[in-house]
Amino acid sequence: MNIDDKKWETLCSKEDIRTKTQELGKIITQDYHNKNLYVISLLKGSFIFCADLVREIDLKVKVNFMISSSYGDGFETSGKVVIDKDVEEDLSEYDVLLVDDIADSGLTLTHVMKHLKTKNPKSLKSCVLLNKPSRRLEDLEPDYIGFTIPDAFVVGYGLNYGEHYRNIPYVFIVTEEDRH
Ligand code: 5GP
Repeated sequence: MNIDDKKWETLCSKEDIRTKTQELGKIITQDYHNKNLYVISLLKGSFIFCADLVREIDLKVKVNFMISSSYGDGFETSGKVVIDKDVEEDLSEYDVLLVDDIADSGLTLTHVMKHLKTKNPKSLKSCVLLNKPSRRLEDLEPDYIGFTIPDAFVVGYGLNYGEHYRNIPYVFIVTEEDRH
């Protein structure tokens, strides 16, 4: 797939994403105005979304990162979620908001939320740019959702295809045809 010659089907444009991120930032600012917000960005997929989102949150906020994996370079979750980098800080004084790129099977968010709960934060919520409920394997509904999308493999704005295309500033669909 060449960045120049491919006609990708755009699912969320730059403008859509900017507007949605601003909306989410406003809501989160209201919801957390008297709280102690600690944002955890789940890498790698959420690095761009989270960077944009926190700039729309008009509060004092701490930001940290975790790394989890389950996909490798493929299209399907392996079903086994591994935390490759944890947050070491004591979270008991914080209202933690876990930010991820997409809730697909829900295995990753469920696993990481369970793990974070053991650290006894004051509160724990999740925020995703994209929600793909049609493929859910866990009973999970993220607290803040950018876009609910159909069952398609999406790439761009942090999401990868074979570790590429995270830098594309919009979200597009990779079709069966694109994969061959
Ligand atoms: P889940 O555990 O909910 O199935 O998804 C975990 C991770 O898989 C996401 O954070 C994301 O990195 C990756 N993922 C799930 N669906 C897609 C998709 O449509 N496209 C891409 N590029 N990654 C996805």
